[in-house]
Amino acid sequence: MLIISQDVVDAIVAHARRDHPDEACGIVAGPEGSDRPERFVPMINAAMSPTFYEFDSGDLLRLYRDLDARGEEPVVVYHSHTATEAYPSRTDVTYASEPGAHYLLVSTRDADVDEVRSYRIVDGQVAEEEVRVVAALSPASSPDELKSPSRGATQS
Ligand SMILES: [Zn+2]
Repeated sequence: MLIISQDVVDAIVAHARRDHPDEACGIVAGPEGSDRPERFVPMINAAMSPTFYEFDSGDLLRLYRDLDARGEEPVVVYHSHTATEAYPSRTDVTYASEPGAHYLLVSTRDADVDEVRSYRIVDGQVAEEEVRVVAALSPASSPDELKSPSRGATQS
């Protein structure tokens, strides 16, 4: 299941609408191992195509350097389909290289309907997952709080 905040979903959909009829792409970064999509990072579709997306290799290099420096990973990898449903194409499956990521697809084929779906893509296998959109992500549990016995004792 993907838990994602409303403002991040809105930002992804807005990016997809803006780039329509070309596909839009980007990631949402979060602390490594957290499964928390916190930082919206729109990318440029270097292919500038209505049927295909690819990150520019230089942009990708800079992105991964930045993520490393921040201790982050791509929690969500998103892109849009502009004429078809929000389901991974065979090409999307072939290029899916982040088994730990949520692959979020937005379809902009209908101007009035936001179609947002999420998948895990591992070893060429596509599994759709539930998307839970929340007003805000719950606060991250801090290691200090977990270690503190007084705090622990008050938890039910
Ligand atoms: Zn696609």
